[in-house]
Amino acid sequence: MRAQVNNRLMGHTEKTDMPRDVVIGAGVGGLCAAIALASAGRGVTVIEAQAHLGGKIRTLPSEAGPVDTGPTVLTLPDVFETLFARSGARMADYVTLIPQPILARHFWPDGAQLDLFSDSAANAQAIGRFAGAQAARDYLRFDRLTGDMYRAFDGPMMRARQPQLGSIALAAAQRPAIWPALLPMMSLSRWLAGQFSDPRLVQLFGRYATYVGGAPQKSPAVLGLIWQAEAAGVWAVQGGMAALAAGLARLAREKGVQFRCGIAAQHIAVNDGRATAVRLADGSEILARSITFNGDPAALAAGLLGPMAQGAVRASATRPRSLSAYVWAFAAQINGGAPDLIHHNVFFGSNPAQDFGAIARGQMARDPTLYICAQDRRSLEAPNSAERFEIIMNAAPLRAGTTPSPDETDQCQTEMLAQLSRFNLRFQTPPPRAALTTPQGWAGLFPASMGAIYGRSPQSLLAPMLRPTAQTRVKGLFLAGGGAHPGAGVPMAALSGQHAAAAILNDPISP
Ligand SMILES: Cc1cc2nc3c(=O)[nH]c(=O)nc-3n(C[C@H](O)[C@H](O)[C@H](O)COP(=O)(O)OP(=O)(O)OC[C@H]3O[C@@H](n4cnc5c(N)ncnc54)[C@H](O)[C@@H]3O)c2cc1C
Repeated sequence: MRAQVNNRLMGHTEKTDMPRDVVIGAGVGGLCAAIALASAGRGVTVIEAQAHLGGKIRTLPSEAGPVDTGPTVLTLPDVFETLFARSGARMADYVTLIPQPILARHFWPDGAQLDLFSDSAANAQAIGRFAGAQAARDYLRFDRLTGDMYRAFDGPMMRARQPQLGSIALAAAQRPAIWPALLPMMSLSRWLAGQFSDPRLVQLFGRYATYVGGAPQKSPAVLGLIWQAEAAGVWAVQGGMAALAAGLARLAREKGVQFRCGIAAQHIAVNDGRATAVRLADGSEILARSITFNGDPAALAAGLLGPMAQGAVRASATRPRSLSAYVWAFAAQINGGAPDLIHHNVFFGSNPAQDFGAIARGQMARDPTLYICAQDRRSLEAPNSAERFEIIMNAAPLRAGTTPSPDETDQCQTEMLAQLSRFNLRFQTPPPRAALTTPQGWAGLFPASMGAIYGRSPQSLLAPMLRPTAQTRVKGLFLAGGGAHPGAGVPMAALSGQHAAAAILNDPISP
């Protein structure tokens, strides 16, 4: 088969010798799928609607340089190291990772503070100092249980191309201690309340549900295992997370991947039940050997890629939606006497039920928990000039038929600044309006997402089984990204891209 790029608007036809695997979207999942395919010797074209590569890995400009306004916590770098190694490259030649000695610093309104580490004994000591000997023992039991959960689900769930129900059941059956956490109605916060005598630790470890877009009160207890991904270590990326996307894009280019940025794919053609071509916003068409969709799978189900591809994903597999967020990315100086920030900081609200209760009603959180990435903090020294911050406040996704209030921007900024000032943290100049991305903003950037930044909601024990997998119902059309199995998060999206590539390479394709 000869692939052709037929640019109708330009009135010319380019022909290439190699058939193309087309990847729609250059998020982490799309980039990893493209690398894996190109490394297997395939001709790959990536179509990206935005001007930058990386999708949610994105920056905004500031006087101190580009500031991350997407993911900041890099865990499980082995996922990327393996991809680089399989492509015959060394990740260290493309991306510099900086291990973080402290995973995160946690602050409570009463002045209490707790650092956590990637070392169980150090955590038990820190928690013992923070909340007493019983709390340290609670932690050690929790750490063992979540370690068991992680080992049970890592292979058959997270690393497998689709959830292996039999292996999952067997792995769980061999670990009776984790059974209570697998009960259908056992929420993460309820399970944690049975693990920890100190409610602040329930709040802290419950927050990990938000890493995949769930509220701890509504998410299954098994999400406690996310702690284990963080406990295995957290890395910062030299140059910010955008440097990870740039490193992946460089490897992709070296492997021969071609990129077309700033142009959306508008239509997927299906012939004889098989996806065969992609039409772009400029009218040009790329004949495809396979198509990997890295956007939110809800976009396919909503018909945004045309009626032929609409049946590829059941709409019900993409709903309900995960959490959204208000995210600020800006540079500023902070007041003298402010709390000592490190790279990752969490400022807890006084009552977690208030935080997520409002969000569950589709409202803005009151007394919210705020996460701050102080991107320039490599040591405990505060920079003397303006430094870069990303601040995240959880939010509800958009609801069909409702429009956000016009003063949402002012309201959430007031809430955020007031909350931080309770911790004696103030910015000399408040973030400008352009620094904020709202749920509405996320919805605009990621079509059909409804502002949800982690795909389908994880708030059900069955969510991992119901989430779409790499293989869609249309032959030749595959999914990669946080909206597909194994779900959201940078390493998970990377795994999904590799699952998509593996599915394509196993797909019997007529010549
Ligand atoms: C504020 C925030 C904080 C986060 N924090 C963390 C964190 O600390 N650690 C972590 O691991 N994860 C975090 N995440 C989650 C993580 O960023 C995502 O799960 C992951 O980056 C998603 O990657 P993806 O492959 O799904 O692609 P996406 O990033 O969703 O990108 C998809 C791409 O497809 C493109 N696209 C869609 N439709 C079309 C079309 N029709 N034509 C052309 N292009 C199209 C889009 O423009 C986009 O570039 C965070 C996310 C956000 C938003």
